[in-house]
Amino acid sequence: MNVTSGQEWVRGQFPRLDWLPDETLFSLCSRQHLVMGNLDPATTSTAVLGLSEKFIKHDIPCGIAALEQNGFHYWGSAESILLHHTIFSVFVPFQNKIKIEDAIITIKGDRIDSLKYRLGLVSSGFGAEHPLKACPYCMREDVDAHGIAYWHLTHQYPGVLICPRHQAWLMVSTKSRRWSGRFEWSLPTKDCLIQQASSQKLWLRPAFLNLANNVIDLAVIGRVMSLESCTVAATYRKAVLQGGRSASLLDRIEPLRRFHLFESLPEDEKSTESFMNQLIRTPRRSI
Ligand SMILES: [Zn+2]
Repeated sequence: MNVTSGQEWVRGQFPRLDWLPDETLFSLCSRQHLVMGNLDPATTSTAVLGLSEKFIKHDIPCGIAALEQNGFHYWGSAESILLHHTIFSVFVPFQNKIKIEDAIITIKGDRIDSLKYRLGLVSSGFGAEHPLKACPYCMREDVDAHGIAYWHLTHQYPGVLICPRHQAWLMVSTKSRRWSGRFEWSLPTKDCLIQQASSQKLWLRPAFLNLANNVIDLAVIGRVMSLESCTVAATYRKAVLQGGRSASLLDRIEPLRRFHLFESLPEDEKSTESFMNQLIRTPRRSI
């Protein structure tokens, strides 16, 4: 047996895991890590994604093209993993074709570089930081149905703070935060999950549930198309003419502003007015 076929033989001994319903790529890799029995997260990172663990991100990953070479082709094509098992699809509707193609090339490759910046996630004030989230009720059901709790894609989208299925507040992982130390593969467990904020009891459940459902709908759109920016502006203009303009937008924003992700939204009528003017203006081609 030569060296190459020896490696193939060892690789063939790994238990072959497949997707659970609504599972993220990070979650499947974490389960794969568990069944491989590796002590060092880097061993799994290299074996699965061909990457040093410092390049692994739980939200928008890279190294997807390596899955095929490493014997994980049955997880699906790079595009299908990207759109169905990462939060990428929620950003697609507001990107143009060139940016989407550029993002796909980056995610297939071995360096994520400044992708979040290039997609505008950093400058928009939304969605550059995505802690892992889980619903305690889904976790219990998943253990009963599949023997293990795992990360659901639906819960990871930015703006989804409540489980649409159980209408329960999602908990956040203490392991996925920037300050939490070194990288590790992880699955949701009670002792690594905390409440999203101490002020959570004051948040309005129906407002956040509505927001969660809208975000999930947006991700569904992102799997098939991006929106045409002039049509979006025209649709907003039409809605403004029919609705109560800034007062009603301010009313809708008010309950959301309590959560830090939405603190940059307008807080008074004047800033709401200029925010709306920005939305209904015909966009310049470069933006
Ligand atoms: Zn749930």
